[in-house]
Amino acid sequence: MANPGDLAYTVKEQADIVRVVGDYVKLKKAGAQNFSGLCPFHQEKTPSFSVHATRQFYHCFGCGASGDVFSFVQKMENITFPEAIRLVAEKLDIKLPKTTPQYSSEQEARDARMRGQLIDMHERAAKFFEEQLHRPEAAHARQYLAGRGLSEETIRVFRIGYAPDSGFVLKDRLKSDFSEELLRASGLFSWKEGAEAGGIYSKFRNRIIFPIAQETGKIIAFTGRTLSPDEKAGPKYLNSPETPIYSKSRVLYNLDRAREAIRHLKYTIIVEGQMDCISLYAAGFHNVVASSGTAFSETQVRLLGRFSKNIVVNFDPDTAGASATDRSLEMLVAEEFKIKILRLEEGYDPDLFIRKRGRDAYAQAIGRAPYYFDYLVDRALRTFPVRTPEGKKNAVNFLLPHVRRLPNRIERESLAQDLAQKLGIDSAVLRQEFRMAAAHRGAPSVRTAMDLQITPAEKVLVRAASSTVPEEDSLRRTALEALDNERLHAGLGTESLLQTILESYPARREQLDPMSLRLAEAERALLAQIIMHETEPLTAELLQAALAALRHRARLSQREREIKQGIVEAERRGDVQELLRLKQEKLDLDRDLAAGLEDEESEGEKSR
Ligand SMILES: [Zn+2]
Repeated sequence: MANPGDLAYTVKEQADIVRVVGDYVKLKKAGAQNFSGLCPFHQEKTPSFSVHATRQFYHCFGCGASGDVFSFVQKMENITFPEAIRLVAEKLDIKLPKTTPQYSSEQEARDARMRGQLIDMHERAAKFFEEQLHRPEAAHARQYLAGRGLSEETIRVFRIGYAPDSGFVLKDRLKSDFSEELLRASGLFSWKEGAEAGGIYSKFRNRIIFPIAQETGKIIAFTGRTLSPDEKAGPKYLNSPETPIYSKSRVLYNLDRAREAIRHLKYTIIVEGQMDCISLYAAGFHNVVASSGTAFSETQVRLLGRFSKNIVVNFDPDTAGASATDRSLEMLVAEEFKIKILRLEEGYDPDLFIRKRGRDAYAQAIGRAPYYFDYLVDRALRTFPVRTPEGKKNAVNFLLPHVRRLPNRIERESLAQDLAQKLGIDSAVLRQEFRMAAAHRGAPSVRTAMDLQITPAEKVLVRAASSTVPEEDSLRRTALEALDNERLHAGLGTESLLQTILESYPARREQLDPMSLRLAEAERALLAQIIMHETEPLTAELLQAALAALRHRARLSQREREIKQGIVEAERRGDVQELLRLKQEKLDLDRDLAAGLEDEESEGEKSR
C-alpha cells in the first residue's frame, strides 16, 4: 500500500488518523495512544471501534473492520484509493505534488475522472443559476422567494438560483468545457429519444434552484421548484436523477452546513422539506437537515449518527407523510437514536410556523417535544379507550410492533413498566408480551472471544515486532532477530501472528505498515487487540525482560520434552528409580511453568 516515496506515504506520514476518523465518529480517549467510539461499519451500542494514534490504524473488535486512514475514508465515502489520498490531504491541508494518481484499473481511472468533472460541472451550473436569479427575467423568481420570506443573506448562504425558461442557455455555457457524454451523464439535461448530438436541453426550466451538496459541501445535484402555474411544466419539485456523483439515499439536505452545529448542540432537527429546512436555518436553528420527503435510508441514518444520536423529528403531521415518517422512525429506533417527536398544530409546517409564530415559539415547541415512546403511548391512549379490557388489548397490540424494534432489552423492560402503569394492567404480563415480541428480533451478534492464553511477554514481543514508529526501529529489529534466530514464538498463542510478521520483513530494515500485513482475520484481530490495549510505553528494558521470560519459558519447555522422553525410556528399561526421579522433576517443572505464567500475569496486572 503505502511505500516511501509514494504520494500515499507522504500523506500518511502527515495524516492524523484520529482527526480524520473524528470527522465521522465521535471518539473518546481510551488509553495512552488509542481512542474508541461506535463503529460506523456495523450497528452497535457499546463502542468496539478503536483508533490508534501513533500506529495510525483503526480496528473494530465487533465486525473486524480494520485498516489505515485511507481505507477508512475509502469505505466511508465509497471512493477509490487515489481519491481517498486526495480527500485526506485536503482535510488536513497537506500540499499535494502535481502527480497523476495511480488507479488499479483503466476503468477506475475513468470513473474517478468523470466524477471529478461532474462535480466541476455542478459547481459551474450552481454559479450559473445564482447569476440568473439576479437578471431582469428572474423578477418573478425573486418575488416568489421574497414571498416565502427568504432574505438576500439566506439566498446567498443556500446558493439558491433560478433556471431560465430557455433550455439552451446552460448548455451553451457548459458545452465548450464538457463533452456531450458528460453533459448527458450529469442529470442536468434531457433529450428526445434518438436525438442527434447536441439535441439536449436543460431539465430545469423556469424553476427556483436549490443546490444539494455532499456533507463536505460539494454540489452534486439540484432540486428545482417550478414557477409555472401550468401543470404541463412538470412536477412541482423536480430532482436530479441518480448520477455517478449523486445517490439520493446517501445525502441529507443541508448536512454540510449543519454538521458543526449538530456536533456542538448534540442533536439534530429533521424536517421533510427543503423550504422548512431553510426557514429554520435562517431563524437560527443551524442544526437542521431535511429528509426531502421520503423515508430515511439506512445510509442516511448512519450518516447522521456520526454527528449525534439525538434527534428531534419534525415531520408534517398530515396522513400523506405518515408512512414515510413511520419507516424513518423505525430506522432511527433500530440505530438507537434518542428520538423526540415535535408535532406542530394542525395546518402548520415548520416553515409556516416560524413565519407566523417566530423562533422563540419554535424553540419552546422543541423543549416540550415528547420522547418517541411517550408520544406513541399518548397516541394509543387517545385512540383506544383503555378503560375496557378490549381497549387495553388494542392499545397493547398497537404498541407491540414498536416495542419489538427497540434493540435494547433494558429499555424494553422499563418501557413495559411505564406502559403497564399508564394502561392500568399488570406489568409482569406486559413484560412477558414484550419479551415475546422482542424475541422475533433475532439473536444479537455474538462477539468472538479472543481470550487466548497470551502472556504479557508475548504481547510486548508482538508490539515491538510490529512497530511502525520510527523511534522504535531498533526495538523492532531486536525483536525480529530474536524471533528468527531463536524461534521464541514456537508453541505460543501468538505463533502464527509473529511468524507472519517475521516473514513480512524480508530485509528486516524497511518500515512496514502493520495493517498491510497479509494476516488472517483472527490474527489481525489479535494484533489489534494487543496494540489497542497496550498499557505501558515500549522500552528496551521492557523488551529485554520479555525476551528473558520467553527464553526461560523456552528452556523449561525444552527440558519438559526431554523429561517426557526420559520417562518413556525409563519405563521401557524398567528403571524405577530413574522413573521416580524424572516424575518428580516433571512435577517441579510444571509448577515452575505455571508459576512463571502467574508471575508474568501479575506483573501485567500491576502495570495496568
Ligand atoms: Zn464494526
